[in-house]
Amino acid sequence: MSPDIDQHEMQQEPEYIKSEYRGSGKLTGKVALISGGDSGIGRSVSVYFAREGADVAILYHESDTDAQDTKALVESEGQRCEVYSTDVSDSAAVDAVVENVLADFGQIDILVNNAAIQNPQHSLLDISDKQLHKTFQTNIYGYFYLAKAVLPHLGSAGCIINTASVVAYRGHDILIDYSATKGAIVSFTRSLSLNLAPKNIRVNAVAPGPIWTPLIPSTFSKEKVEKFGKHTPLGRPGQPSEVAPAYVFLASNESSYITGQVIHVNGGEVVNA
Ligand code: NAD
Repeated sequence: MSPDIDQHEMQQEPEYIKSEYRGSGKLTGKVALISGGDSGIGRSVSVYFAREGADVAILYHESDTDAQDTKALVESEGQRCEVYSTDVSDSAAVDAVVENVLADFGQIDILVNNAAIQNPQHSLLDISDKQLHKTFQTNIYGYFYLAKAVLPHLGSAGCIINTASVVAYRGHDILIDYSATKGAIVSFTRSLSLNLAPKNIRVNAVAPGPIWTPLIPSTFSKEKVEKFGKHTPLGRPGQPSEVAPAYVFLASNESSYITGQVIHVNGGEVVNA
């Protein structure tokens, strides 16, 4: 959950799955581990994966309510879901929780690194060492820790999907530390994909643009929230339900020849690099 808002408090409830979306068993028999799977984009990915036949293990930070609500959504798709409260910025905690997931499910086939925090600051001088460390520890160290803990258990045809951001490519004036972690995630994705290609483990990323999730009203000013997403070619923010299908594609066999790539789900901004 985001620091001071949960799904129940958002004036406009995000859409987590398009009601008309039909699963076709693309992920049947798979187990997905999704960090930050309780909320926002992670919740949507959890529900789409379940509709495609996957069981889902969700790592979340603080909101038991969000986690239980997401668990209920996954279970209503007929799939198993277990939720684990942990701090992805703590490597020992990550090792322990991955062991727990393996004990419960017996396998992990898909890792979705998605948990993140952001704290806007109007000047570089306002970014404290404490904030800098926490942002990097959560947003990029956490991705490393999870990838390291899961890797020995990922079979051939396993995959890792990292959540980057449009700001990795074009920057953001008041998210300087956060943007830097997102740039690191793009490089991490490319390097790890090269390293794991001989094992046929694919590593890709999704770079969302402005997506309407609890992260937005909890961290941006009212003025920023009102303008959120209006600058995109499509002229509006996206819904989590419009991002998660990219994760389904990258997790499924349909993307078997794709690794080291980033899918840009951002309302039309051209940022490929
Ligand atoms: P969100 O706040 O709804 O979800 C993020 C989740 O991360 C939280 O619910 C929490 O469970 C988890 N988390 C945070 N710190 C954690 C920690 N230390 N340990 C374990 N879990 C922790 O946000 P969201 O908008 O759904 O963001 C999901 C991902 O999408 C993030 O990586 C974010 O950077 C990225 N993203 C979002 C947007 C957007 O506009 N919403 C745009 C680009 C990228």
